[in-house]
Amino acid sequence: MWNPWHGCHKISQGCRHCYVFREDAAFGTALSSDTVRKTSSFELPLRRDRKQNLKFPAGTEFALCFTSDFLIEEADEWRARIWEIIRLRADCRFFFITKRIDRLVRCLPPDWHEGYDNVAIGCTVENQKMADYRMPLFMSLPIRHRLVIVAPMLERVDLSAWLDPAKIECVSAGGESGKYARPLDYGWVLDLRQQCINHRVSFNFHQTGSYLVKDGRLYTITRQYQHSQAAKANINFDG
Ligand code: SF4
Repeated sequence: MWNPWHGCHKISQGCRHCYVFREDAAFGTALSSDTVRKTSSFELPLRRDRKQNLKFPAGTEFALCFTSDFLIEEADEWRARIWEIIRLRADCRFFFITKRIDRLVRCLPPDWHEGYDNVAIGCTVENQKMADYRMPLFMSLPIRHRLVIVAPMLERVDLSAWLDPAKIECVSAGGESGKYARPLDYGWVLDLRQQCINHRVSFNFHQTGSYLVKDGRLYTITRQYQHSQAAKANINFDG
């Protein structure tokens, strides 16, 4: 995890029970979760040990901005340095997911061209409305590694209009966590998986969420088993 800034604003249905707000409330922070601020990890990939070796070796994968949104407005003046660090660590891979794909163009560095080879971008679509809004934009942008994150999945989502295996590396589906989570219907997951199979796009069921409806029955799944239970379903597809 590399979280150069922390804090966010809720912008769509998928944000309702955002874990950033939940965890800040649970652990208590001096500032509210919607105050976006730089963290002490701002230059994390460049850190060196006492012998001046880089702490993170070549090949490290950094999951970027998982307690904020990489494309949030407040970070506009800080992002140029992050792009610079990503260029300096061309030996590492970086990945971020966003609900603000409509801001990507104005956030890209001048030398982005068709995309940096070491950067993957995941576009989150939690329902059909957001898929219809975000997916056409996402597919039209210059990105070398594109992933679609259908999480928290709130309803059946039809992505078939955009499932181009030459452009999408993987579609990943998951439920919502937490006490107030909205249930995930396993039928929606299977339906999305079938769309991916039909279009030869890889599919991954990454977690069940707290409440899973299967064959008309509601299952409660504690946090520690949400990933393993999804893996047990054994429905991932390698396109
Ligand atoms: S965009 Fe992501 S981090 Fe921001 S409020 Fe929504 S779910 Fe939370």
